[in-house]
Amino acid sequence: MKKLLIDMDDVICENGFIRMINEFLGTNYRAEDANSYYVNDLIPADKFEEWVKYFEEKNVYDYVNIVKDAPEVIEKLNKVYDIYIITAYIFRDKPEISGNQLKNKFDYLTKNLPFIDPKKFIFLSDKELVDADIRIDDSVDKLKGKAELKLLFTAYHNKNIGEEELKEKKLTRVNSWKEIEKLLLENNV
Ligand SMILES: [Mg+2]
Repeated sequence: MKKLLIDMDDVICENGFIRMINEFLGTNYRAEDANSYYVNDLIPADKFEEWVKYFEEKNVYDYVNIVKDAPEVIEKLNKVYDIYIITAYIFRDKPEISGNQLKNKFDYLTKNLPFIDPKKFIFLSDKELVDADIRIDDSVDKLKGKAELKLLFTAYHNKNIGEEELKEKKLTRVNSWKEIEKLLLENNV
């Protein structure tokens, strides 16, 4: 079986941070308003300490929605590929509260992907440490590790990456889990 690494945030679930930020600020931002991978950058500097405290007291995975078709397609892929869910969990703005983040991620994955053995969840920071045949991630940076096929899952922060850059970095853009299903199950790469 080919080893397939699947990222979690903005690939399996989405919109948690932005919903939380809107609740905290009383705003109506959309993820694309951040214009960066880190939607946290929408928080004004003078509210930052308060925001970190707010984040610490809540579970961002109570705010997410599952990405359309993700569990159904992952369950099908799981019969054909050796799947690992690979996710970075260190909270950039206050690393010492990341233990909660790890627990919240673990609980979300066990609940929403019950067909994946929890032994196949990988919590880390540097995804390049893990080799694979195929990688799926919404972050160009996190697709740097070895793989014969790298799928860039479309998200607010990578929409503007053009064909040329994709080609140069050997990335294939996918816009949905249905596209992934087609590529990995019907075309049998
Ligand atoms: Mg991600």
